[in-house]
Amino acid sequence: MQNSLVKELDHRLAGGGTVAYDEAMALMDFEGEDLIELLDLANRIRQRHKGNRVSFCSIVNARSGNCSEDCTFCAQSAHFKTGVQTYPMMSPEQILSAAADAYHMKAQRFGIIISGRGIKFSPKQDVEQILAAIRALKADGRVIPDASLGTLSWETARLLKEAGLEGYHHNLETSARYFPFICTTHPYEEKIETIRIAKATGFYACSGGIFGMGENRQDRVDMAFTLQELDVDSVPLNFLVPIPGTPLADVEGLPRSEMFKVIAVYRCLLPEKDLRVCGGRERHLGEDQDRMFEAGANATMIGNYLTTMGRPAAEDLLMIERLGLELVS
Ligand code: SF4
Repeated sequence: MQNSLVKELDHRLAGGGTVAYDEAMALMDFEGEDLIELLDLANRIRQRHKGNRVSFCSIVNARSGNCSEDCTFCAQSAHFKTGVQTYPMMSPEQILSAAADAYHMKAQRFGIIISGRGIKFSPKQDVEQILAAIRALKADGRVIPDASLGTLSWETARLLKEAGLEGYHHNLETSARYFPFICTTHPYEEKIETIRIAKATGFYACSGGIFGMGENRQDRVDMAFTLQELDVDSVPLNFLVPIPGTPLADVEGLPRSEMFKVIAVYRCLLPEKDLRVCGGRERHLGEDQDRMFEAGANATMIGNYLTTMGRPAAEDLLMIERLGLELVS
């Protein structure tokens, strides 16, 4: 017999309705047969809004390490001894070369990422380099230029937009309640404000978080509702890859069933958005990575992550072919 909540939501979401907070919390507790029904529902919602289409994005770590902030998951924080490679801002030519690699891996979007609290606090020279790189990417036209430069000001957002930037990424990381356990050097409100500035500037706003950092199910639901309220366009779902030397080095990963459940609940709560499974999929989903699309995802990251390796791009391209999905590039 079909689970009555799944049946009700199937009907309601098909008619353009939404999931209530208590219902989302109930979905987060699903196990066994109920969970399988939830995954089927998420798959139907994905197909309704995204059809057979999926996409890849790729990133370059354009300025690495030496970060003043103390995000406990991050290899690039100067507060922890992680042995991460550190280097100053890349030249526009180096960024363009990384974008060409992304294009050859069939990435649709390409993100320039820098370490640090934010571009608002960056040296003027670094800002100039980024603007030059964006102009060059825009002129090249092979990938959609995005950036993840931390905290934004209205003025820098305007400069980035004028240079041709199309998307801005800034993760919430977790819920407002749990964030102070993850970072003490900047407030959650600063993140919210940056996402609001990105949206108001007209960027494709990309914001999500990391799961498996010790947060509870309510935190996962709370973050989804905050993202819903902010009306972000894309939601990266990362699963913690513990970095030796950070305070989260020994945290155990979530079980696979919990990871698929997170993807499915997020699809129910954000039915029309791009749901992007990113960091941790290789390590935690292993041979089950194909199933992330059945759980509701419609996008993923290809190539390497900021400080950890992805799997070879050829394997991801084979996965798309095997599943009969259509890659938007
Ligand atoms: S997540 Fe960003 S702000 Fe936080 S420590 Fe890492 S580089 Fe710095």
